[in-house]
Amino acid sequence: MKFKFNPAFYLVLCAIIISPTQASDELNVYSARKEAYIKPLLDQFAHIHNVQVNLVTSKADALIQRLIGEGKNTPADVLITVDAGRLHRARQADLLQPIDTSRFANAAPSQFQDPEGYWFGLSLRARTLVYHPQRVTAQQLSDYESLADAQWKKRICVRSSNNIYNQSLVASMIAHHGGEATQQWAKQLVNNFARNPQGGDRDQIKAVAAGLCDIALVNSYYLGGMLNGSDAEQAAARQVKLFWPNQNGRGAHMNISGIAVTKYANNLPLAIQLIEFLYTDAAQAWYGDANMEYPVRKGITTNPILLSWGDYKADNLPLKQLGTHNAEAVKIMDRAGWK
Ligand code: FE
Repeated sequence: MKFKFNPAFYLVLCAIIISPTQASDELNVYSARKEAYIKPLLDQFAHIHNVQVNLVTSKADALIQRLIGEGKNTPADVLITVDAGRLHRARQADLLQPIDTSRFANAAPSQFQDPEGYWFGLSLRARTLVYHPQRVTAQQLSDYESLADAQWKKRICVRSSNNIYNQSLVASMIAHHGGEATQQWAKQLVNNFARNPQGGDRDQIKAVAAGLCDIALVNSYYLGGMLNGSDAEQAAARQVKLFWPNQNGRGAHMNISGIAVTKYANNLPLAIQLIEFLYTDAAQAWYGDANMEYPVRKGITTNPILLSWGDYKADNLPLKQLGTHNAEAVKIMDRAGWK
């Protein structure tokens, strides 16, 4: 009998040999970060441990939906995304499993982790103020609360309320002042908007540079990105200054990018090793630099732009509360007319 090559049979045979379950030297990562911000680190981890790391990149909410849909059959071992509110949502949806933090040699300060170990901060994303130094002095600025003062009428630019950065900031205000006081504040803040919210954080910085407003509420890494950006972006970014709010009080509002181990992870040991790797000095410094974020571990960064903005005091509110107050924050912004 003559042997006839049958590709379908060959594929089935391969699948059996390779095994239907995941190999012990393979890790599947679902990531909502741009590939350039995380892949080089994952490649390095794969190289050091002689393992294969498979990366799926998509939008954060799409990845959460995908994990829900895949259930027990998910190939994902870890989820990497931005915003504590989203990590909280993933936990609420029963997609994550707790990891014992005491085993890590290095870790994030406790407020930047889930208290029960369901997720871990990797980098800090500070919500700061930028201002035009010819129209505003640093002495006039102090905290988020005083952005509601009448002196700032029609002078503030900020993006829309459907953006999670603003929702999380408002959630932090609820955590500190309660819903009623935050409602008052939001209403007065909206009165001070120079225009209807539009565009992203970079657009707010450009608007301050162009004289459309005097102050903007932005995540500091956008200013950093512009200072490293095109000539036009650099020119705009150099016209504004960064201000750390609430330094005489609780500290600036911080959010994180973070990592979590999925509930149905096939390779728990390797998932834990990846978290440990991402907390090493070198990985922390690289990851922060890649997107001009602050490493979640203090005293790590050597980035000249980040260092030029000086030391800062961070709000030590447990970030879990950004998630628990999110729904109320959205309602408050809506009632305040924050478009
Ligand atoms: Fe962003």
